[in-house]
Amino acid sequence: MPTRTPSPRNAMSIDVEDYFQVSAFAPYIRREDWNGLECRVERNVGRILALLADKDVKATFFTLGWVAERYPQVVKAIVAGGHELASHGYGHQRASDLSPAAFLDDISRAKKLLEDLGGVPVVGYRAPSFSICKGNLWAFDTLRDAGYRYSSSVYPIAHDHYGMPDSPRFAYPVRDGLLEIPVTTVRVASRNLPSSGGGYFRLLPYMLSRWMIRRVNEVDGESAVFYFHPWEIDPGQPRVAGIDAKTRFRHYVNIARTEGRIARLLEDFRWGRMDEIFLGREASARPAAPSLSPA
Ligand SMILES: [Zn+2]
Repeated sequence: MPTRTPSPRNAMSIDVEDYFQVSAFAPYIRREDWNGLECRVERNVGRILALLADKDVKATFFTLGWVAERYPQVVKAIVAGGHELASHGYGHQRASDLSPAAFLDDISRAKKLLEDLGGVPVVGYRAPSFSICKGNLWAFDTLRDAGYRYSSSVYPIAHDHYGMPDSPRFAYPVRDGLLEIPVTTVRVASRNLPSSGGGYFRLLPYMLSRWMIRRVNEVDGESAVFYFHPWEIDPGQPRVAGIDAKTRFRHYVNIARTEGRIARLLEDFRWGRMDEIFLGREASARPAAPSLSPA
């Protein structure tokens, strides 16, 4: 009987931070003022965990140390839900804005904090705003030295805030013992188009996003890596005043429709944790084939 090769499982990831920590807001909201702002992250992560449980999907949560320290119950709920706990660094500075020593301090502090609170090893890291670029490739050495096994910090596109358009589109060993797992692009007319979440997912029609992930699965034969933020499903978040038009558009476009779109996405594809899909845990965890099946 002819069999069709099943599409690869895709990786679902959430960057756990609050709306006021977004890099594009940095010129408008002072870091020293974070403590006094209304926090929405606990409630929003709760909604995401409920949605994932409803769709029976396990995901990877790249969690900010700043959030973990203030909301340890969020870390525990992520682990209790069977999800992968991973690191988004401690303070959400762009890696490209830090010295090697300050970067090492940030990623080590976050890793230890998350491991202590979650009681599980933390081996994955995503840089704030995909901020590993041509000018700071030393960050990969630092990540390996700090004990991380994979990074998902490169967006192989051209963008005004980040990106390395000519770097590999799919997971590759970037250092001995460290895998880089870029977020997903679709290759059209010798350009890489962003197709893995964030503002683009909110801006583009759902059917186009679905087409792009399907194309990566069927044409490239690769797993896609999708990401979103807890604040992207929160139309009730406080509006940040006085921001420029481009930042306002990028942050708020279609924010009321995102939760419904993500629910659809969870149904339209097969999803899993980054570590299971890319570090080979999936293969070792798979039960042996039944010995009595007909030939
Ligand atoms: Zn972030």
